[in-house]
Amino acid sequence: MTSVAFIGLGHMGAPMAANLVKAGLTVRVFDLVPETIKSLTDLGAIASSSACGAAAGADVVITMLPAGKHVRSLYLGESGGGEGKGLIDVVAKGTLLIDCSTIDAQSAQVVAKFAVEKELEFVDAPVSGGTAGAAAGTLTFICGGSDTGFEQAKEVLSNMGANIFHAGGAGAGQVAKICNNMLLSVLMVGTSESLQMGIDHGLDPKVLSEIMKVSSGGNWTLNKYNPCPDVMESVPSSNGYQGGFMVDLMVKDLGLSQEAALLSNSSTPMGALARSLYVNHARQGNGTRDFSSIFEQFANVQQI
Ligand code: NAD
Repeated sequence: MTSVAFIGLGHMGAPMAANLVKAGLTVRVFDLVPETIKSLTDLGAIASSSACGAAAGADVVITMLPAGKHVRSLYLGESGGGEGKGLIDVVAKGTLLIDCSTIDAQSAQVVAKFAVEKELEFVDAPVSGGTAGAAAGTLTFICGGSDTGFEQAKEVLSNMGANIFHAGGAGAGQVAKICNNMLLSVLMVGTSESLQMGIDHGLDPKVLSEIMKVSSGGNWTLNKYNPCPDVMESVPSSNGYQGGFMVDLMVKDLGLSQEAALLSNSSTPMGALARSLYVNHARQGNGTRDFSSIFEQFANVQQI
């Protein structure tokens, strides 16, 4: 039976690891927050006292961490809990390493380079689909890495996702992911301002949403993640913008997309504006709320 180490049990990692347990895999888990480990051991996962402890002896290591600095230090050293060693120092040759975090492509490429030197496959496999997709096992995985690494990764990722793409070599999954999230932020902001303008003119946001869903403005945020409270059940906007995808993480992703745009000399004015709006929103104390709370920037405008 495949043995998996799963490290990083936050909003996304916990439901993803739970699906591996449900699929019958042996799953060793670790997170810096002990309560998150307990939620997984209750389901049948095995607790580890460090990341290196979880990874040693595993066939596959999966990480779901906030940002590039966490991924680099965990794989290459410093925070692995193994006396200064990184995960690549404690796993056996041939172990498959999969990082599902959304990070900068350069960090993914650096970790891949060091992994290859140790005869390890490293696949960057950021995800799309949010916490609902993670819980339902319907995530989209966007992979970068060798053909061999991708084929091996597909098997274990299929327990957590419905769509698994190979975008290209090391780091390519991360590039595709930040293109997607830049577009998502623009759609979320545009949907929010449109809904609020309708409300300001006396329209019912539920009716307006139904109209726009089947019209030319239809998009994922209207179909799955309406930002206006009480239009849709079981989404963060109807739950005080709790859970979901934090504003701070969207700010991180939009920073990554702007860095990528600079590197390639690409023109991304909508992404730049969306980043400014989200940075402003975070600075007003919304960093840990769901990213659809950007709706309040438009809803709370005072008329003079
Ligand atoms: P989160 O902050 O809820 O979870 C991150 C977890 O990593 C935390 O539990 C933290 O304690 C743990 N962690 C950090 N450093 C660690 C270390 N050295 N060892 C062990 N555990 C460590 O974040 P999240 O919402 O689960 O997102 C994780 C990644 O997935 C991010 O890169 C994010 O951009 C991406 N993502 C999130 C969503 C979403 O809807 N939340 C969707 C797609 C992609």
